[in-house]
Amino acid sequence: MVGTLSSILVIDDEPDNFDVIQALLSDQNFILHYSNSGEEALARLDVFQPDVILLDVMMPIIDGIEVCRRIKAMPLWESVPIIMVTALTSKIDLARCFDAGADDFISKPVNRLELLARVRSMLRIYQQHKQLATFNTNLEETVQQRTNQLQTMIFQDSLTHLPSRAFLLKNLDKILQTGESSFAVVYLDCDQFKLVNGAFGHVVGNQLLIAIAERLQQHLRHGDILARTGEDEFCFLLHQIENTIAIEPFIKEILQSFEKSFMVANCEIFITASMGIALGNSNHQYPEETLQDADTAMYKAKLRGKGCYQVFDRQMSSAMLSRLTLENDLQRALKHQEFITYYQPIVNLQTEKLTGFEALVRWQHPIRGMISPAEFIPCMEETGLIVEVGIVVLKQACQQLRAWHQLGWTDLNMSVNLSVRQFSSPTLLADIDQVIIESEVNSAHLKLEITESAIMDNADAAIALTKQLRSRQIQISIDDFGTGYSSLGYLHKFPIDNLKIDRSFVNQIQSGNRDYQVVNTIIALSNQLELAVIAEGIETSQQLEWLKQLGCQFGQGYLFSKPLMASEIERIYLK
Ligand code: C2E
Ligand code: MG
Ligand code: MG
Repeated sequence: MVGTLSSILVIDDEPDNFDVIQALLSDQNFILHYSNSGEEALARLDVFQPDVILLDVMMPIIDGIEVCRRIKAMPLWESVPIIMVTALTSKIDLARCFDAGADDFISKPVNRLELLARVRSMLRIYQQHKQLATFNTNLEETVQQRTNQLQTMIFQDSLTHLPSRAFLLKNLDKILQTGESSFAVVYLDCDQFKLVNGAFGHVVGNQLLIAIAERLQQHLRHGDILARTGEDEFCFLLHQIENTIAIEPFIKEILQSFEKSFMVANCEIFITASMGIALGNSNHQYPEETLQDADTAMYKAKLRGKGCYQVFDRQMSSAMLSRLTLENDLQRALKHQEFITYYQPIVNLQTEKLTGFEALVRWQHPIRGMISPAEFIPCMEETGLIVEVGIVVLKQACQQLRAWHQLGWTDLNMSVNLSVRQFSSPTLLADIDQVIIESEVNSAHLKLEITESAIMDNADAAIALTKQLRSRQIQISIDDFGTGYSSLGYLHKFPIDNLKIDRSFVNQIQSGNRDYQVVNTIIALSNQLELAVIAEGIETSQQLEWLKQLGCQFGQGYLFSKPLMASEIERIYLK
């Protein structure tokens, strides 16, 4: 209306009345329209486009009150102000006018000043109303825009532009609502993606993720969804998958697609991915459950190695649950000092004299009683808890050895197991130093047992560490020898002192059989390399005889003693 002329519609069955109004407003910049009946006016409102309506009350066929009511019922025109023009001034008639939605009234005969004042004030109100309406429309548009932006942010991954985890969950939810179960969720996690970030930096890492997303997208069928669900995690939602067999070709395709390298920022990068698959399950109520199953299966696949896949089955989640419970339990056990050390005697096989002990951890569970390390060490290795617990055992063992030395048993040695995980702990040496200083143990009587795999997985670091340990006079033993790489060839490279022959060979030993030959070879080579040999798991006197024949110097096993509490050791051996 600003800048354009206001349009006034006069509805009156008497053309003379219009002439009067026209004359009264002739010096004003209004566009005047005239309609001589309510019917015509109602039909042509869009032609007149009125900003204000002057409406006669008394008209044939439809009177002004009815016309007013009808206009006010039209969404497009309801807000146009209507001024009733009436000769009747009785309160009842005015009340009927306002009841019909009229905004104002003016009495006949019309007075110029009054007319101008009413029209102007109505126009002002209408203008404000229109401004407010425009403002509201703009506001609505902005809100809608922002909502769209927000939706994009929530439902789209900003790096790859793939749908997000939230989008996937929403769609999965829709499927679950319909009770449909012929679908599959495939969780895909890149193997060792951290190494890429570490070696090439995050920028290249991000580019690789984009390249992976593009490659994965090529395998999407119409209607399926590929989402990025985490750092290096992607997830497919596939429709019309009835069973494991139906999904296999797809999985093979995806695995194959990782055989080709990715060219990113002039670097050729090879990477593999592990996949976990959850098939549609009508028992699931929430989409997160399906995703969790696929994640669990993926975790299982990872444990089997790189580039593997695994279909979820029920047992997995209970295994997962007990695994989680175990993790929590172990954390608590460490806090409550439930780990105690047992000691298994190691004897000189020729003289059968005690030479020392192997410290073996036990978990004194408040409800389950004594738990063997085989049950919890693997879990502690994975979570890294072994680093702390390993030092606790070392401390107990060193304090114990120091106490026995002080009792006069000054020749005794103590062997303590060191896990692979401890090997990569940056504080290991400092921790060991601290234990030695605090316990005041003579470190020349301390032996640390490590497995072949710990050494081979990390050869350079292992050599450096073993050298450091030996400079503190600590001896190094290779534990469970023969079960890992079983290669004597590399042994001379490592500064080690003892070799422990694994129980499985000792178990099976028979004169002249294969295990006998293996043990024989190990002992012969150890002699050449000047390593002391300790046989593990000697249970029978027959086994002892064979080992003695082969020249094995030391041994431990149930034949001599099971691992025992310190007090038992003192009662039986240190009187
Ligand atoms: P390991 O270091 O090879 O320890 C020898 C295992 O053989 C011990 O099992 C011991 O009880 C068992 N054993 C000894 N003599 C016999 C025998 O005559 N017959 C049979 N059947 N078994 C015998 P344990 O105490 O259950 O420990 C199992 C493994 O757990 C250990 O194997 C070691 O690898 C690990 N472990 C135990 N304590 C610790 C620890 O404090 N730290 C670390 N990192 N690992 C530990
Ligand atoms: Mg051991
Ligand atoms: Mg062993």
